[in-house]
Amino acid sequence: MPRAEEQIELSRPISDEVKRTTCYMCACRCGIKVHLKDGQIRYIEGNRDHPVNQGVLCGKGSAGLMNHYSPARLTSPLLRTGLRGSGEFREIGWDEAIAIAADWLGKIRARNPRELAFFTGRDQSQALTGWWAQQFGTPNYSAHGGFCSVNMAAAGLYTLGGSFWEFGEPDWERTRYFLMFGVAEDHDSNPIKIGLGKLKGRGAKFVSVNPVKTGYSAIADEWLGINPGTDGLLVLSLVHELLKADRIDLDFLVRYTNAPWLVIRNPGGADDGLFARDVAGRSLCWDRATNRAMDANAPEASPVIAGEFTLPGGRKATTVFQLMAERYLDPGYAPETVAAETGIPAATIRRLAAELAEAAFEKEIVLDIPWTDWAGRRREMMIGRPVSMHAMRGISAHSNGFHTCRAIHLLQMLLGSIDCPGGWRYKPPFPRPIPPAIRPNGDSHPGTSLGGPALGFPTGPADLLVEADGTPRRIDKAYSWEAPLAAHGLMHMVIRNAWARDPYPIDTLFLYMSNMAWNSAMNASGTIAMLSEREGEGYRIPRIIYADAYFSEMVAYADLVLPDTTYLERYDCISLLDRPISHADSAGDAIRQPVVAPDRDVRPFQDVLIELGARLKLPGLVELDGRPKYPGLYADYIVNHQRKPGIGMLAGWRGDGSKQGTGEPNPSQLERYIAHGCFWHYEIPEDQRFFRHANKGYLDWATSMGFIDHAEPVVLQLYSEVLQKFRLAAQGHGAVQPPERDRPRIAAYFDPLPIWYRPLEEAAAAPEDEFPLHAVTQRPMAMYHAWGSQNAWLRQIHGANRLFVNRHTGERLGLADDDWVWIESPHGQVKAQIRLMEGVNEQTVWSWNAIGKRAGAWNLSSAAPESRRGFLLNHAISELLPAQPGGYRYSNSDPVTGQAAWYDLKVRIVKASADEAEETSPQFQPLPRPPGMAPAPEILRYGARFRGRRDSAR
Ligand code: SF4
Repeated sequence: MPRAEEQIELSRPISDEVKRTTCYMCACRCGIKVHLKDGQIRYIEGNRDHPVNQGVLCGKGSAGLMNHYSPARLTSPLLRTGLRGSGEFREIGWDEAIAIAADWLGKIRARNPRELAFFTGRDQSQALTGWWAQQFGTPNYSAHGGFCSVNMAAAGLYTLGGSFWEFGEPDWERTRYFLMFGVAEDHDSNPIKIGLGKLKGRGAKFVSVNPVKTGYSAIADEWLGINPGTDGLLVLSLVHELLKADRIDLDFLVRYTNAPWLVIRNPGGADDGLFARDVAGRSLCWDRATNRAMDANAPEASPVIAGEFTLPGGRKATTVFQLMAERYLDPGYAPETVAAETGIPAATIRRLAAELAEAAFEKEIVLDIPWTDWAGRRREMMIGRPVSMHAMRGISAHSNGFHTCRAIHLLQMLLGSIDCPGGWRYKPPFPRPIPPAIRPNGDSHPGTSLGGPALGFPTGPADLLVEADGTPRRIDKAYSWEAPLAAHGLMHMVIRNAWARDPYPIDTLFLYMSNMAWNSAMNASGTIAMLSEREGEGYRIPRIIYADAYFSEMVAYADLVLPDTTYLERYDCISLLDRPISHADSAGDAIRQPVVAPDRDVRPFQDVLIELGARLKLPGLVELDGRPKYPGLYADYIVNHQRKPGIGMLAGWRGDGSKQGTGEPNPSQLERYIAHGCFWHYEIPEDQRFFRHANKGYLDWATSMGFIDHAEPVVLQLYSEVLQKFRLAAQGHGAVQPPERDRPRIAAYFDPLPIWYRPLEEAAAAPEDEFPLHAVTQRPMAMYHAWGSQNAWLRQIHGANRLFVNRHTGERLGLADDDWVWIESPHGQVKAQIRLMEGVNEQTVWSWNAIGKRAGAWNLSSAAPESRRGFLLNHAISELLPAQPGGYRYSNSDPVTGQAAWYDLKVRIVKASADEAEETSPQFQPLPRPPGMAPAPEILRYGARFRGRRDSAR
């Protein structure tokens, strides 16, 4: 009898075209394949060939088409017609919009370029925006890093020459023990999920240190629900235990760190705490063979690691290692001493230290790969300490975050687990010299560009951007005595300082993709008031230009709105000059290509910036005869701009297409990228994959690629002489010294070895019994930017956020699930609905960030859960610390880097009374829809048009 044949189509074609590009639904930059049907985006899938995600696509990535088709997309340039905040605009054309912007900015540039404050959010074109600001001549530029994770970045770059996340990653293939601090799902996303999968598959131990047990912490083998802001103390207690037990990698310390370098001991002297140096300025060690001081980096040196020595001339010196041992063996760091403050039992700390040492030393990895060190010495194998670590904003967003990150790096170095098999590894173009060889520039003159980039890395007080009396040169006070190592600026202070005219007034605030009237602002209500404050016929902040793709809360406060495209409608460049897509085993960069053309009167912001620059005749943006240098706008710039001869935005297919890293511009470069899935990727040879701070092959290659200027070893800095130089200035030494007001602060926080101190606001203002709870936020797995709040698919997951409270704490306070409470801080109060849970530190409450919305914004209904039940904790966070004696209020930031201290917040929660409305507070006047924007449909039926066409879709 004939058998019935089953006919099952396992993979029905769903598209008539597939274009490869790069995701922008978070900062991971995964490769995606966008399926198009009849010119419409139908489906997004992961690109299996892409080095970042190898085909993996997260929920945000696949929901990207909802962002693309969002009813909240801006549709044309807008000029304000009503009062700021009223949301009253008229549509204008691009010619008028660019003419207005060029008129405003041109006058500023001719008069005083620093009257322009140009700040961008989490955009991925900082290699362009920073360079543009430099050409304009304003020092008042930065991106979002100051309110994100500059502590992590700066601590890494001043210690290791690299840092977590974008500049380094765990050796997921080999690590045996993984310690993760303070990480939510947004930094990093797919790569960490893939990595954790590998760890779990191999049975490696994963310990998560985080007050909240969600996301990655929920799948950890061990969760340590630490008290917020005390991670540094826990880490230094681990250091104490390892030193005490002599479970450290001395070989690694001597070879690769400044542990044996000599530090001058001369209390009260101008050279106290500086490295002992020879006449050529080379740092010295004490050589065992000759029993005298010699160049610490000489290949023949045989350094003594501990002890006190007398230098020629009689000065006393000791080693960095000796100073470390003296400090961290102190009983103040013993597990019993720190247990109460951290909330981690002493026995757990002791066990953790033992487990770290066991993984590092008993599970040592030996790779049979010969390599050559920087001095030309051949080494027969690569020895690895399979312990790796990762930390992000949970550590960074405290006012002690810089030192906490330094402490984590110190722990890594003691274990010898930097860039070794199984350890934490650099991603090219890192490591770089410590600190990177770029200084901040702030000398601003009419009609003139800055002498170099606005952002950089100071090496001492002389590199600060301050006037002779200590007055900051930047509007955000970055690189002043208030935040000397502010490598990413202080975006969270720009509006406050501009409003207060402290240190000076500005004319125009130019923001891109940063929702500073809502979730990107501390003190959101106060910020709204500052943006709207009238003065005479105008405003206290005279002009605001805002560029965004969506109708965010900030739009209503702009005088001129420049609508951006979505990420699927433009070219982007993910450059090695900025934050590339490299892996530990490979260097890489990427582009985005326009997958579809805009159907609205919008333009890519990068195109607008280049056109504006040409109109303003900015150097570098026009030819000598005044013609635009990049008539093809950003795509033209990506291909043809050269930062140095041969070094441009993209490293792949340069010159005739055969060169990588350096080479002349290649007119076909973008086509080559597109043909290759929009990325370039170079696999580093095996013998150059580890110990890259001292690996000759790697350093030579990195020099040839233009990553570093010289193939010299990068000596890891346990002890930071840069910090000590600031401390000496505060003690009255040197030509550039802080004003009296700042001296105690600089002296206290510029310790050359990592320290721990209570977060500043907690220490200064909030009495423990009045505000007993820590309050923190994190990004949910389903959303990264505020953008996700208008994404129909993602809204179904997080339409409103709750305040999560530990069940015991809730019961003690007489609270039950779904109760409404007031969250009260010394600064303000917010009303929220609670959810009780077990997996959170008992002294901590938390919520998802950027879910709560202002009514009407994002083209959501005024009754949307985001604005009725979702809440924004930012209303309770102050951008300023309590007043000092004398009245001055420092920003609510890390005193070293200026990182916004979002997570220092202390609160109490009080049950709302029964007669109060069950909705969040504060509420604001609903924002009207901008002209040109259609009302959002009641039900978004995205995809319905494809459903009826199934049969014809083959
Ligand atoms: S992890 Fe980020 S970049 Fe990758 S697919 Fe998800 S949203 Fe896109």
